[in-house]
This record gives sequence, structure tokens and C-alpha cells, in this order.
Amino acid sequence: MKQLVLLGGGYGNMRVLLRLLPNQLPNDVEITLIDRTPYHCLKTEYYALASGTISDQEVRVSFPEHERLNIKYGNVTKIDTKKRHVLLEDGSFVKYDDLVIGLGCEDKYHNVPGADEYTHSIQSISKARATYEKLSNLPSGSVVGVVGAGLSGIELASELRESRSDLSIKLFDRGERILPAFPVRLSNYVQKWFDANNVEIVSNSNITKVEPNKLFNHEETIPVDVCVWTAGIQPVEVVRSIPTEKDASNRIVLTQYHNLPEDKNVYVVGDCASLPFAPSAQLAEEQAEQIVKVLLMRWKGEQLPAQMPKISLKGFMGSLGKKHGFAYLGDRTITGRIARLMKSGVLWMYKYHNG
Ligand SMILES: Cc1cc2nc3c(=O)[nH]c(=O)nc-3n(C[C@H](O)[C@H](O)[C@H](O)COP(=O)(O)OP(=O)(O)OC[C@H]3O[C@@H](n4cnc5c(N)ncnc54)[C@H](O)[C@@H]3O)c2cc1C
Repeated sequence: MKQLVLLGGGYGNMRVLLRLLPNQLPNDVEITLIDRTPYHCLKTEYYALASGTISDQEVRVSFPEHERLNIKYGNVTKIDTKKRHVLLEDGSFVKYDDLVIGLGCEDKYHNVPGADEYTHSIQSISKARATYEKLSNLPSGSVVGVVGAGLSGIELASELRESRSDLSIKLFDRGERILPAFPVRLSNYVQKWFDANNVEIVSNSNITKVEPNKLFNHEETIPVDVCVWTAGIQPVEVVRSIPTEKDASNRIVLTQYHNLPEDKNVYVVGDCASLPFAPSAQLAEEQAEQIVKVLLMRWKGEQLPAQMPKISLKGFMGSLGKKHGFAYLGDRTITGRIARLMKSGVLWMYKYHNG
């Protein structure tokens, strides 16, 4: 039996399973999925988990079951592409013939002193739970600083506002206007929502240091009771330490077939892969579609296309609490309740197909 090992049961590898398992898995291939968490986690909803507006159970989806799928729970500590095996924290190792690395990302602190020690995170389920504990136990009138006004920072700040109207929330944005890469209409809509809902946007900010209960924005000291970091991501450490070429964001450089340039049996999917788009669940899934095609062709001994099709994305959607949202789809800006309904619909479809 050939061994296909999937590292991480996130959005990328869940799509690999969804495509291979029903009827496309060749008879001589067995899959082992390794994850430290005993279920697939809906990372896109961690902002709501941390804000306390959804329960833990709502972000968990069971892994699929299949006679040729083995699931191993454990923490991957080393990927040895020379020996073709993966080491786990408990000292065991798992050999592979083909490997798909989809271990996701963690916070990047850009060398800001104290950021690692004194900020909270929503980049893993255990960290999002810890953030929820901290935020929900805050006394009335406490100040929460959210550093980074990208999609996850915006979603967290707005959801927390709806969850806790008694907190003071400051969202630190590096730019002149919120979401600068998108049309002004969209930025204005988001800004107005925050103004109307009493969330302070601190524009042109540059957080230079974090201390317990203090943020330093340029030279100014800002007292905060809790700070949540949403200002940057990077592949997890075990992936960063693979001795292969990385891009400026430490993501692994791949061939057009999504494997390491020096090893056609090692693929990388999702947030760990260097791709011409910002990392997203949608991107991980689209890339996984291509990886499955390549795997199937290679297993059958078929020639790969000289040029892989370009990955195209539909756009993106964001929420502002439970009733409002925004979307940018194929150059169209959609705001308000319709955008929020669309986002909920996408989540429902995802759970329906994977649950
Ligand atoms: C708050 C928030 C909102 C977001 N909203 C959106 C959105 O609206 N749309 C969108 O497209 N994207 C969104 N994203 C981004 C999206 O969640 C990621 O891009 C996506 O999860 C990446 O998928 P992945 O398969 O690479 O990894 P992940 O889905 O992160 O999965 C990685 C898996 O690896 C496991 N793992 C990690 N390290 C180890 C280890 N050492 N050993 C064993 N297992 C390990 C983890 O448990 C996890 O199951 C959002 C992210 C956040 C934080």
C-alpha cells in the first residue's frame, strides 16, 4: 500500500479528503491524517469564539471516516524529507510515500518587544479559547486593544462590540484608511459601522512595544486591560524549519504542481504555501483541488499538464457583528445585511458539505 500522509486537518487537507475519499482513492493508497486536534476546526469563526458569541461546539467538524483513512492525533515536531518520515511529540514517527503539509499559521510579531508575551491570539483554537476566557472575564469599562485592522481584526472588534457593549474597544490600524486595498466605498462603510458602534479606530498606528496593560503606539503609551494581536501571520514553526526555499513571508516556494522543487512527493497546501494571493481558507481549498488532480495523475502514471491552470478566487467577505457585513466579489462591493447573509450562507454550505 502507498502511504499518503496529510499533516493538519485544516481547510486545505479537508478538501483533499473530501475529493479523494468518496470514490477517487486508488485501491493501493492508504491515507493517514495527523492533527493535534481531534476534529476539524473552523478557524474563520475564531473571532466569534473569542468574543463569546458562538459556542465551542459550533467551530468543530468531525473528520470523515473511511476504511482506508487512519487518523492519528499528535503534535508534529519535525518533517524529515530525507528520511521521508514525520516525527511526533510522543517520539513516534510516521513514514510517507506522498506528503501534503497543511499545518496552517501562527502569529507573526514583527520583532515588536513584548508582543509575544503580553498579547492574546486567535490563531489556534486553544489560543482563541484562552482569549475568550480573558475577554469574557473583563470587568465593565475595561479597555481592549486589537492590534491590526485586517479582516480578522475587524471581525473580532465588531463581534466583541456586539458581545460586550460595556467595554471600550480600540482597533489599531496601520493605514490611513481601513482596508486600503479595497474600494473607498467599502472602507467608508466599515469605518462608519465602527463610528456608529463606538469602536475607536486608531489610524496610522505603529505599535512599537507591548508591556503588561500597556501598548506603545509610536511614542504614546496607551493603557489597555487586554490586547489581542491580529497584525500578522507566518507558517507554523515546524514548517518554517524545513530546509527548503521560502519567500519573504517564510512560506514555502513550490513548483506549479504544488510540490517542493527538490521533491515531487512533498506538497504544501494553504497558509504554509507561497502563492500569488494572501492566505485564506478559500485559497487553501482551491489549491487543494489542484493537488488532488496532480496526485491522481501521478499515481496513474499520467503526464501532468505543461501548464497548470491559474487559481482564481471569488473574492472575500467579512462580518460586522451578526447583522452587518461586507463583501468584495468580482470587483463588486456589497455591504449591509445581504453581505452578512451571504457570509452565513457560505459557512452553512461548508458545514453541510464537510459535516
Ligand atoms: C479570525 C479569522 C477569520 C478568517 N476569515 C476568513 C474568511 O472569511 N475567509 C477565508 O477564506 N479565510 C479566512 N481566514 C483565514 C483562514 O482561516 C486560513 O487561511 C485557513 O484556515 C488556512 O487553512 P490551512 O489548511 O492552511 O490551515 P488551517 O485551517 O489553519 O489548519 C491547520 C491544521 O494544522 C493543525 N496543526 C498545526 N500545527 C500542528 C502541529 N505541529 N502538529 C499537528 N497538527 C498541527 C491545526 O490543528 C489545524 O487543524 C480567517 C482567519 C482568521 C484567524
